[in-house]
Amino acid sequence: MYINGAWVDARKSFASHNPANGEVLGHVPDGNEIDARLAIAAAAKASPEWAASTAYLRSNLLHRAWQIMMERKEELARLMTEEQGKPLKASRNEVVYGADFLQWFSEEAKRVYGAVIPAPRAEQRFITLRQPVGVVAAITPWNYPISMLTRKMAPALAAGCTIVLKPAEATPLCAMAVFKVFHDAGFPPGVVNLVTASDPVPVGQEMTANPLVRKITFTGSTRVGKMIAASAAAQVKRVSMELGGHAPFILCPDADPVHAAKGAVLIKGLNTGQACISPNRFLVHRPLVPAFVTELTARTAKLKAGSGLDESVSVGPLINSMALDKVHRQVEDALSKGAKLECGGHRLTEHGLDKGCFYAPTVLSGVTRDMLIWHEETFGPIAPVIAYDDEAEILPLANDTAYGLAAYVYTPTLARAMRLFEGLHFGIIGINDINPTAVAAPFGGMQESGLGREGGAEGISEYLETKLGGFSLV
Ligand code: NAP
Ligand code: MG
Repeated sequence: MYINGAWVDARKSFASHNPANGEVLGHVPDGNEIDARLAIAAAAKASPEWAASTAYLRSNLLHRAWQIMMERKEELARLMTEEQGKPLKASRNEVVYGADFLQWFSEEAKRVYGAVIPAPRAEQRFITLRQPVGVVAAITPWNYPISMLTRKMAPALAAGCTIVLKPAEATPLCAMAVFKVFHDAGFPPGVVNLVTASDPVPVGQEMTANPLVRKITFTGSTRVGKMIAASAAAQVKRVSMELGGHAPFILCPDADPVHAAKGAVLIKGLNTGQACISPNRFLVHRPLVPAFVTELTARTAKLKAGSGLDESVSVGPLINSMALDKVHRQVEDALSKGAKLECGGHRLTEHGLDKGCFYAPTVLSGVTRDMLIWHEETFGPIAPVIAYDDEAEILPLANDTAYGLAAYVYTPTLARAMRLFEGLHFGIIGINDINPTAVAAPFGGMQESGLGREGGAEGISEYLETKLGGFSLV
């Protein structure tokens, strides 16, 4: 763990595994509530001086961290592929995306402005300040084990907050590598703190119960996010929540099914389907279904699964055997209720893949609303195709979910695109675009997909309070 500027051990340790072959990659300290308390105390002690530091100092440190992370791109990418499983090329992309947040928020640090507001009385002045919220506690998932950390840490640090972070149990080595970057960049002791743990509950409870923590930022499942937000409410702590998703991928009646299928395979395959913005329901106008399914199946069946270190591989393992079981349960449920298996539908065990958690990329057609996969986030390489007959069905079908993170629309018609852009209750909409994310763009969900936005100009606001000063001149 990294507490108050030093690497420290816990009384116990736990192992991190390679999901492609089950090998142990290393052991890390197994922290508990006492370690979390120490880390929070260190962050609280460092907070006043860090909050009072100039934006230029914070900006320079973040810029230095960006440089170091880019210098380590290759080693960080390899570590990520070994610990999380995604193909090396995707890991390289993630390291750059993760580093982008350091650079972007090193710039935003210098643009935190207050305002002078016209006051109602002649002898009165209104001025606002924007000040850091204070100590931030962060909890992050395993699917993007570097960028999900920097997406929180960079804006918090730029705003003048200190931070305690608990990474996912499955990817602690990536988190340690990120903290080495911050250490080597020269952040003062106590400004960034890391507590690794196999059991998230004691650390999470300390974060929500400790009055020194003023903000919780969480990325993970909706189930856990709700529990954390509920606990944080007892002290009215600020919360940001980046939660699950159930993205519709819509082919309008005038879409090109072959072009759309090409995009569908790319975005569905992202991180082996283990992404919060992964499409989970392909809504296709019935006359387009045969051409779309044929192209989707042909492309999906060609994907090569294996260790991400092999550069010809585009599908990595799922994170663990529970994930395999969940994915297979959804496929079996759909098949038992009348869906048709176009390809895949089973675990991959040949050529040594049995040592890891590999599932064949799968296409299901004839999916209907009574199936588990219609409502449940899949987090695996399954593409369920649902036919609709009338354009008026699109919005009710697409919006038929409690989630609201990402949605995708294929149409060459501007008016259709605009109507759907406005009518979909999702926070991120790709219009003929499967990659509507970048550091400068706000990322986040509506409804049960979350609260707040990360990245973009909004990203730093999550870590700032607005304070109003009313001055009487008489
Ligand atoms: P998860 O089970 O909710 O875990 C996320 C983090 O919370 C991990 O660090 C986990 O620790 C911790 N945690 C679990 N139970 C906790 C508790 N009771 N108290 C405190 N912390 C707790 O989610 P996941 O399976 O790792 O990640 C997948 C989910 O994240 C998906 O739903 C996905 O859509 C979502 N996600 C959302 C975004 C977004 O930006 N909206 C981005 C990426 C992922 P352990 O690792 O020890 O369990
Ligand atoms: Mg755990």
